[in-house]
Amino acid sequence: MENCLFCKIITGEIPSKKVYEDEHVYAFHDINPNAPVHVLVIPKTHIASMNEVGADNIEAVSRVLLTIPKIACELGLAESGYRVITNCGDDAGQTVKHLHFHILGGKQLPLTLA
Ligand code: AMP
Ligand code: ZN
Repeated sequence: MENCLFCKIITGEIPSKKVYEDEHVYAFHDINPNAPVHVLVIPKTHIASMNEVGADNIEAVSRVLLTIPKIACELGLAESGYRVITNCGDDAGQTVKHLHFHILGGKQLPLTLA
């Protein structure tokens, strides 16, 4: 997808601090972390947001979800806990229109989200 920041991160056109990569999934450290550990996990295929998740791309989304606990474990978060967030659309504050799941952890996270 042209002009998609995260598609450019996947190709390496824009540099990132890689945490994990396989054929279908890419994960990297957030450039502006909101917690001691803040990693973004994305499908390699361009899906704009949760609004576009459907039967045609559920395998790609599933591969991302299956990878999240593995990454969390490797980051040392499995025991202490972590939060997984995906923002969809303007009211949620989605700034990059390529589906991504935030993994946040490494401290007691605030409960005030709404
Ligand atoms: P969201 O607000 O849910 O769309 O999340 C987008 C996230 O992407 C934010 O937490 C940003 O800090 C992060 N981000 C933006 N540009 C980059 C980049 N070049 N490398 C890593 N993370 C980025
Ligand atoms: Zn993209």
